[in-house]
Amino acid sequence: MSALRTFAVSLTIPDNEAFTALETLARLGIPVGRVARADVWQFEVEGAPGDLAAAVASFETIFNPNKHRLAERASERPEPGEVWIAPRDEAPATLVAGRPIPGVRAIRRRTSCSTRRAATSRPTCSPAPSRRFSATPRSRWQYYDHGDGPSAAASCVERNLVARSDVGAPRCAASWGARSLGRSAFKMTMMVETLAQRSARKSGVGEMYTIATLGSHSALQILKGGHDEGFKTLAIANEETQRLYRSFAFIDEVITIERYSDFMGLVPELEKRKIIIVPHGSFVAYLSLEEHKKMNIPYFGNKAVLDWEASRELQRQWLLRAGLKLPRQFKTGAEIDRPVIVKLYGAQGGKGYMFLRDTRDFEERASLLARQNYILQEYIIGVPLYIHYFYSPLTGRLEVMSMDRRYETNVDSLGRIPSAAQVGMDIDPSYVVVGNQPLSLRESMLAEAYRMGEDVVRVSQEICGPKGLFGAFCIETIITPDTQFYIMEISARIVAGTNLFIDGSPYSYLNYSEPMSTGRRIAREIKNALLSNSLDAVLDDGFTEPPA
Ligand code: ATP
Repeated sequence: MSALRTFAVSLTIPDNEAFTALETLARLGIPVGRVARADVWQFEVEGAPGDLAAAVASFETIFNPNKHRLAERASERPEPGEVWIAPRDEAPATLVAGRPIPGVRAIRRRTSCSTRRAATSRPTCSPAPSRRFSATPRSRWQYYDHGDGPSAAASCVERNLVARSDVGAPRCAASWGARSLGRSAFKMTMMVETLAQRSARKSGVGEMYTIATLGSHSALQILKGGHDEGFKTLAIANEETQRLYRSFAFIDEVITIERYSDFMGLVPELEKRKIIIVPHGSFVAYLSLEEHKKMNIPYFGNKAVLDWEASRELQRQWLLRAGLKLPRQFKTGAEIDRPVIVKLYGAQGGKGYMFLRDTRDFEERASLLARQNYILQEYIIGVPLYIHYFYSPLTGRLEVMSMDRRYETNVDSLGRIPSAAQVGMDIDPSYVVVGNQPLSLRESMLAEAYRMGEDVVRVSQEICGPKGLFGAFCIETIITPDTQFYIMEISARIVAGTNLFIDGSPYSYLNYSEPMSTGRRIAREIKNALLSNSLDAVLDDGFTEPPA
């Protein structure tokens, strides 16, 4: 005896394709209140197949617990207002991701779309006795509905929703429907999905806001991400950089100031516009903490974290409280009982750092350090790894976005000269960053990396709560031969190492299956906040709406 079991897999996170469909339907003048998408899996089972739901949930290609909901349906047919779409004349499969499911004889996958009317919340396609029908003969797709007959439902689907476009991937079908109507105004919405060069911006909530940042550091990534999520984009550049930023089609506007440190002069003008500032490393370099706090422009992130990040002492307290391992610190040269690195305050990219072997070494070079502020930190011998995270205040979930290591001169080249040959050469290691290399972490160490990120976020909510640290951040580590992570530093915003991953990283791909840079992830968070009417959750609390 065989039976048909039906499972629906839907997103628990906001669904961008459904949102685009909704927008396009609105542009078509079709008053739809909600569009929902799901993957529907039908399994023809023989006998008693055991726990089929658990077997289905074990396939990552079907179900990712971080973003999906899996529910078995009582009926093997679409619900009222729902349409299932599948390739025409599709033969059932017997394997998923190359694997059989015990007890399952045949597998069919459909994409489900359902729409609700805006005001009434009734289905857009009216329900009637269930039956299968075919769409127009030239369509590549077959439609199944709860059943108000071929004409009404087919036209509903053809005009309003098609879950797959010609290019194959499931996407907003409203666009497809718009194209079949030949209405050029809507073609644009459709084309942004399929064009390799996206010069047109997606429509949506993003059109209301402009994502702005300083033209430097990771601005290209941030603005490309903003553009891809449908925002207008603004780069604030200087005379040297403005031509570069103007050369990118995804940057809608470039404002030129003489020096980046003049940024505060522009603030009153920016405050009048619907702008969201996405800060990066150069903001910290060019603007003081006070200036950061003074500007009353919506700001992605929590400025309260800046105090904890900027002070080496407070940062140390934060990381220790999170249970992270830190290199020992020595107050005076006399205390040094192992190799140390001398870190100058305010240095950037490791410039001017010094390696000292012992107290004697310190005394010999003390004159170089006179009148400088520095710390003496235990030198950890191991592999440096910079882990890029994103914490979403909307979902309460931490994501590992990517990882890199820095390529530093000359410390990374000392191994190229045999140590015997180095004797007497008087080479001092230096730590000047020249670039970044991508890395993936041994998977058995990934759980620890994830835990560190979670602990840092948890403690941040205690020390600068309630929002704490959110958005992009980076923990800079050195991993010793016994696979212990020692923490050098935390950066509470997007770091330049993420520029390696403008097209996404192996880790972001696992979560998104589409190119997802950290810059784009930031823009998506802002968009999701706008869609769920919770923009406050992703902006610094210091922002006050200017009087109307
Ligand atoms: P940025 O602000 O750009 O992150 P920075 O000037 O704060 O850089 P760090 O990232 O703290 O500098 O360190 C620069 C480099 O010095 C590191 O990439 C690493 O190679 C080396 N380094 C820092 N701390 C240690 C340590 N405790 N042990 C060994 N090497 C270290």
